[in-house]
Amino acid sequence: MHHFQYRGNEMYCEDVPIQIIAQKVGTPFYLYSHATLKRHFSAFNDAFDGINRLVCFSAKANSNIAVLKLFANLGGGLDIVSGGELFRGLKAGILPDRIVYSGVGKSVDEIDYALKTGILMFNVESIEELELINKRASLLNLKAPVAIRVNPNIDSKTHPYISTGLKKNKFGIDYKTVIEGYKLAGRLENIEVIGIDCHIGSQIIEAQPFEDALKSIKRLIDELKDLGIEIRYLDMGGGLGITYDDESPPHPGEYARPIVNALESSHLQLILEPGRVIVGNAGILVTRVLYRKSGRGKEFIVTDAGMNDLMRPTLYNAFHAIKPVVKTKERLITADIVGPICESGDFLAVNREISDVKNGDFLAVMSAGAYGFTMSSNYCSRLRIPEVMVKDDLFYVVRARQEYEDLIAGESTPPFLEN
Ligand SMILES: *Cc1c(COP(=O)(O)O)cnc(C)c1O
Repeated sequence: MHHFQYRGNEMYCEDVPIQIIAQKVGTPFYLYSHATLKRHFSAFNDAFDGINRLVCFSAKANSNIAVLKLFANLGGGLDIVSGGELFRGLKAGILPDRIVYSGVGKSVDEIDYALKTGILMFNVESIEELELINKRASLLNLKAPVAIRVNPNIDSKTHPYISTGLKKNKFGIDYKTVIEGYKLAGRLENIEVIGIDCHIGSQIIEAQPFEDALKSIKRLIDELKDLGIEIRYLDMGGGLGITYDDESPPHPGEYARPIVNALESSHLQLILEPGRVIVGNAGILVTRVLYRKSGRGKEFIVTDAGMNDLMRPTLYNAFHAIKPVVKTKERLITADIVGPICESGDFLAVNREISDVKNGDFLAVMSAGAYGFTMSSNYCSRLRIPEVMVKDDLFYVVRARQEYEDLIAGESTPPFLEN
């Protein structure tokens, strides 16, 4: 059951007419379905039944603390890539020993924060980082639990900006150097080697790249064992894709099967870092048509949401289905759906067939629950928009719309400018 459905001509989120929320909260805003978030998390987690696993939701896909709290309540962990995400996770009640920390550029402060928090493990992405973590842990008189992130050189056949498992990508340590990395880690006083990690990209819509990655990681685990290095945690990263348009990604069950088969008879504890697959289709962006205009042979629909609110179309040429919140017109037009920002790249859709909407109409930009709000910015001094969560017939604003004062918080004018 999909939780953004038309009843008659009107789109609902669970049991709430979206139009009602739009009138109360104003537009634009992000809207999340509690039931969908919960179902997606559980379906993903249940797909690994029979093996020891921890689903560490990838915070950067959607880091609203209400969303994180829901996953915490379901027993989830968190995959973080910054100190800010660690802060959010803790605020939301994610247990420290369920947090894994990835990313190529962890700073000293961030490393210290994670060490003091006592996270499950650092996914280390370079030899220098490994040495720095050892040094920081030594100063704090702690032992840092680490996995090394392997770059298995696998083509995940996704958009180049979100492919991460090729040797030309900045992520992980290349397959050849990994063994050296583990040998070094074994010698470092304040490092405790516990895991191995890979994450090959995002919006991956085939099963094969994951299976290839699993095979190459398993091979490494065996090689390490021969060297006397025991791996306890196998982190398979995230990356499972969703349907935005007509993609047909593997179902979580299909994605899980080879992993479950490979690990059933081992003592390895599995860690997963899904982001998009959990939240992507559990959220939409609701926007209002401000103006219609016609250019030379071109129709434009100008909306109150722009690239600063939803960057994916601009950044990746990503497709998002766009539907009227209330269906009124049968007639279809082909139009560019564009935002208010002074950039030609500011669009939600180009040459899109859409019903002949008029100013004031609400539009639902579908599949916007992942990398939507989290990638938004204040560009053009636009206020960051609210996030709303629906449960059954209730809605709750889980992040308020910013106000103008928020825009200049922390700014000041130096004395030499005063006259
Ligand atoms: C972004 C990211 C994820 C989540 O990717 P999805 O495609 O959203 O599942 C998981 N792990 C790491 C290290 C990431 O950077």
